[in-house]
Amino acid sequence: MAKVAFLGLGVMGFPMAGHLMAKGHEVTVYNRTPAKAEAWVARHGGRSAATPGLAASGAEFVMACVGNDNDLAQVCTGPDGAFSTMAPGAVFVDHTTVSATITRKLAAEAAARKLGFVDAPVSGGQAGAENGQLSIMCGGDPADYARAEPVMAAYARICRLIGVSGAGQLAKMMNQICIAGLLQGLSEALAFGQKAGLDGEKVVEVISQGAAGSWQMVNRHKTMLADQFDFGFAVDWMRKDLGICLAAADEIGARLPVTALVDQFYKDVQLMGGGRNDTSSLIRRLK
Ligand code: NAP
Repeated sequence: MAKVAFLGLGVMGFPMAGHLMAKGHEVTVYNRTPAKAEAWVARHGGRSAATPGLAASGAEFVMACVGNDNDLAQVCTGPDGAFSTMAPGAVFVDHTTVSATITRKLAAEAAARKLGFVDAPVSGGQAGAENGQLSIMCGGDPADYARAEPVMAAYARICRLIGVSGAGQLAKMMNQICIAGLLQGLSEALAFGQKAGLDGEKVVEVISQGAAGSWQMVNRHKTMLADQFDFGFAVDWMRKDLGICLAAADEIGARLPVTALVDQFYKDVQLMGGGRNDTSSLIRRLK
């Protein structure tokens, strides 16, 4: 069992850190808003610390799941950041969805301090975090990955090393590119069916078992048909992710025409007041 720090107890981090405790690891948590850290300790035991640096001190592994590039940089190298107290040989594992650029920068900084750094963004959403069934795509040094993998196993359904530093984040971009186009297609189909007067649930029961089936169709059609979006993966986060994808595409010379369009559709949803709604709320524009 390992000594682990977990930074960021949001929708994802709170249950992920809980799974580490359940597996018997020695866990210290940090959350910017202390009340969440107190609630986590009340629920799971373990300890909380007032800063990322205090949480990371003495830890073999430091996991993080915060917001965006700036937030990650802050908990790593900001005042009282984790890098300042981590001992040589310790491994930082980043579960935040961020750019490959900040990942490479922080990995280089970690290496200069003799720390490991694994980018390990996740897919599977709130339910995947709560059930310990996340898909984790990683980038980094194979030896660091091999040490971190058994710890990540506490909340993983599948965990793979894709390549060098940044490769995990690039894989997560592929994941988000797939989801953006797919959700627009699903939204159009369900809205079309409603206009045509069909029973959407009956149709989905049939077509979800054919070539049109998808995780989004199976898990989101009921709430999309019922206009319920107060849960799940926030549109604001999706816009952050699509911004990362579009910037990366520019850098490498890839084309993302549909992703760019769906990004603008998500902007409409934000302007409709739906920034914290689940990404399936794309259908609201069509109703
Ligand atoms: P969330 O509920 O908004 O939680 C974000 C967490 O990060 C909170 O604990 C927040 O602290 C902390 N944080 C943000 N900025 C910080 C800073 N500058 N310094 C210290 N802590 C900071 O978000 P989430 O849904 O858990 O998502 C977290 C990450 O996972 C994001 O990158 C997201 O894109 C990614 N992700 C999310 C999902 C999903 O379904 N939700 C799925 C896959 C990937 P406070 O409590 O103080 O605000």
